Amino acid sequence: MRNNGHADGHLLNGTAEKNSDVRNVVIIGSGPAGYTAALYTARANLSPLLIAGNLDPKTSRIKGGQLMYTSDIENFPGAVADRHADVADVKGVSGPDLMGSMEKQALHFGAEMIEEFVTEVDLCSAPGNVYTVRTADGNEYRARSIIIATGAAARTLGIEAENRFFGQGGGVSTCATCDGHSYRHSENGVAVVGGGDSAMEEASYLARIVKKVYLIHRREEFRASKIMLSRAQENPKIEFLLHSVIDDIKGKPHPAAAANAFFKDKEVVGAAVLKDTRSGDTRELPVDGIFVAIGHTPNTELFKSQLKMDEAGYLEHDGRMRAIPSITCANPEMRRLEHVPGVFVAGDVSDHIYRQAITAAGMGCQAAIEAERYLAESMAAQIGLPAEAVDISPESIAQSHWSSERDQMDAKTIVERIEEGAEKCETEMAQ
Ligand code: NAP
Repeated sequence: MRNNGHADGHLLNGTAEKNSDVRNVVIIGSGPAGYTAALYTARANLSPLLIAGNLDPKTSRIKGGQLMYTSDIENFPGAVADRHADVADVKGVSGPDLMGSMEKQALHFGAEMIEEFVTEVDLCSAPGNVYTVRTADGNEYRARSIIIATGAAARTLGIEAENRFFGQGGGVSTCATCDGHSYRHSENGVAVVGGGDSAMEEASYLARIVKKVYLIHRREEFRASKIMLSRAQENPKIEFLLHSVIDDIKGKPHPAAAANAFFKDKEVVGAAVLKDTRSGDTRELPVDGIFVAIGHTPNTELFKSQLKMDEAGYLEHDGRMRAIPSITCANPEMRRLEHVPGVFVAGDVSDHIYRQAITAAGMGCQAAIEAERYLAESMAAQIGLPAEAVDISPESIAQSHWSSERDQMDAKTIVERIEEGAEKCETEMAQ
């Protein structure tokens, strides 16, 4: 891991000694949102620290997040294995490759990264000041701004066999958009588990690619909206198997086993063992893939009673990625604020609708630009400049990200620019 040292003292003039261990930006989470936020804040000379997570692969709390379990990403614009390939041969990249590239790119521009699991964040007790992040390793990090990109974890069935076939082309997936295309030549078809909108959406999507889709649901009532349910029911490629749960998964030899020694002892999904929820009878259903679509859980446990969430636990923001205080926030001063100063959200942790790598990356960029603006505003206030003298609108900061001149600027230059602006403003006002 590259360590760029402390970011102390760059931004808040005169307070460097007192705040010597205070970072400008701490990013929690290492999916596309976190890495993009790290890239943007690093390029803005904010020396971000990204805390990448390191714990439980099944809950995506692994460095890189949910995409680490995706074999082929074919819909992240520009992410192709070989840009010189003929159009017919264009291939996407694997999730780990894309995440690895994003990580390297952010490191290259000066982001610092650590693999620790955040266990506690104090956002309520110090509005507008310095926030504290603690990790399972017993470390404590303090920051003037925090970008929350902890993502969401797809719920899984909880059966032992699921682990054996999960991700990396094994046949169990939680994302049809990511993995569905791999089954375009499937003989036996695929199964989708669930009775909500996600399951209907996944089944309808897969039916465009795969010749047969089984929709497996544990009862006959559905949580799905009428329109999405009837769309799936009317699709001749989708067969509904109700009162059924997947009790076990049977494997078959990996298709590449004969050609490649690496896959010799590996298995992929061969059949789902279905159990009738009324009779308890079991039967085998040959399928090549199983898509579990029984909902997602946002990784927001850390922020309970501190930040506003919707009913499903997704973090809300004010339209500019700024986190909103919870009405149960311990600090009454914080409860009165419209947003928590310097705390931003990005990616699946606040998005239950799109949930795509590209949308998460976009939100990471937005959060980074907002964090940069927030820090510049704080800095202007500290050096006593009138707010109107400082051009730190999101548009101006966003524009500066594609100006090469900006790449050469350090924080000191930014302060000088702001001061020049203030002088110009005063001269103009005096005339
Ligand atoms: P959901 O509405 O909570 O549905 C989850 C489904 O999975 C339920 O049918 C549930 O069965 C089943 N399930 C849960 N645990 C299970 C288990 N262990 N084994 C087998 N089945 C299990 O979740 P969702 O479909 O992800 O939707 C979440 C939210 O996102 C909803 O508000 C939805 O409207 C929204 N959404 C919207 C769209 C869209 O508008 N395009 C698309 C996707 C999601 P039971 O019903 O028996 O509990």
